[in-house]
Amino acid sequence: GNGKAAAGGGGLVVPEIKFTKLFINGEFVDAASGKTFKTRDPRTGDVLAHIAEADKADVDLAVKAAREAFEHGKWPRMSGYERSRVMNKLADLVEQHADELAALDGADAGKLLTLGKIIDMPAAAQMLRYYAGAADKIHGESLRVAGKYQGYTLREPIGVVGVIIPWNFPTMMFFLKVSPALAAGCTIVVKPAEQTPLSALYYAHLAKLAGVPDGVINVVPGFGPTAGAALSSHMDVDSVAFTGSAEIGRAIMESAARSNLKNVSLELGGKSPMIVFDDADVDMAVSLSSLAVFFNKGEICVAGSRVYVQEGIYDEFVKKAVEAAKNWKVGDPFDAATNMGPQVDKVQFERVLKYIEIGKNEGATLLTGGKPTGDKGYYIEPTIFVDVKEEMTIAQEEIFGPVMSLMKFKTVEEAIEKANCTKYGLAAGIVTKNLNIANMVSRSVRAGTVWVNCYFAFDPDAPFGGYKMSGFGRDQGMVAMDKYLQVKTVITAVPDSPW
Ligand code: ADP
Repeated sequence: GNGKAAAGGGGLVVPEIKFTKLFINGEFVDAASGKTFKTRDPRTGDVLAHIAEADKADVDLAVKAAREAFEHGKWPRMSGYERSRVMNKLADLVEQHADELAALDGADAGKLLTLGKIIDMPAAAQMLRYYAGAADKIHGESLRVAGKYQGYTLREPIGVVGVIIPWNFPTMMFFLKVSPALAAGCTIVVKPAEQTPLSALYYAHLAKLAGVPDGVINVVPGFGPTAGAALSSHMDVDSVAFTGSAEIGRAIMESAARSNLKNVSLELGGKSPMIVFDDADVDMAVSLSSLAVFFNKGEICVAGSRVYVQEGIYDEFVKKAVEAAKNWKVGDPFDAATNMGPQVDKVQFERVLKYIEIGKNEGATLLTGGKPTGDKGYYIEPTIFVDVKEEMTIAQEEIFGPVMSLMKFKTVEEAIEKANCTKYGLAAGIVTKNLNIANMVSRSVRAGTVWVNCYFAFDPDAPFGGYKMSGFGRDQGMVAMDKYLQVKTVITAVPDSPW
């Protein structure tokens, strides 16, 4: 069916890897234990680099450096304008190194090189600049306190922020959290995903070049149950900003509660519906729906993995969706003609294939795909199931792979009810030309983001986060600054007040 993976071709481009150590207090250092772990190239399964492996002792050092930088360093004390200048410089550096960074994410995560250059890296720079613009506009309020008092609020940085991020968008995840935290005047310890530590270490280097003071950004690659847990349970971390699975989100909230009751924000999984109404242009709806679930190999929390199509166009939609899946080219993410690279690692590859088996066993009909492709690496064919029932595992659980579940509906009310029938509420797509349906369904779907006649339309100014078990707290937008700031009320007696 699908274009053969080009991974076997021999001409594999592997970028040079310059940074493999932990970044603590402005220096690249070995782990206290001396241990390293392997990060692999999902195109082949081969080892790309040995990375210093942070554990509790290293996280302690990183938090200590961040605490020192917060309590006594200049970052929280400099003017917002000065912070913005450093952040803008970092944005310039990210852009200047875009090709190299896109290649690092490409080899580490199997992401498309071309898109990395033209989307991920410019978007990261834009995110930095957006929040650089916020750094000198952090305002409190003046209060109407009754009696002989005056009152106002200050919005102060929350302190030391732990950032724990996944592997699907190593660059965007980093800057989604780090940019507003920097603007707020926080200091930061980032635990990148163990699958994709390379670009985060590079950003630590660039931050130093840009003039971010030592200790303000620390990067501690390592595993979740060790380095990640050390951060989320640390007594001296003020807040943890997390993106990842609901299961680990729960673990992080528990360890935050058990330790110092640190503030937590969670951006978790999704099982987002794409709802296509009868009046839609079928070709447009098919290409949007394919993109929604096959983009980034389905490794995206907002993947539109449940596609509901109204009965009038269902048969035509199914036929065209199968064609689109067959034309979705799987191959080396460094090849500009490729639409989809390999799954990030063996664990995810096997997990996706297991869900495909479950789908078949529970009675869904596999129309296309469903198998590995290529002679090595973790490539999977774009996959479509029909005859999917709401209660099936593949309609309820996040697969995080290129697997579309197609379902038919009759009425608008039925579409809304089905769209809302999972535990998640991250995003939803609506395809219709009917303004009334678009607006009514937008209001009725319980999801943090609704895309009408578009999908993945992200913008730094558009808040992003989950309803229900997709988490709480928002990334992007000015509202995200709230995660990194806290409010102090100051009340002053005015004994001789004239009123
Ligand atoms: P995914 O399913 O996308 O791999 P995870 O939720 O497993 O996402 O992981 C997201 C991030 O959380 C990674 O950086 C991972 O190392 C980290 N992590 C995993 N387990 C824990 C844990 N127990 N405590 C803290 N962080 C963890």
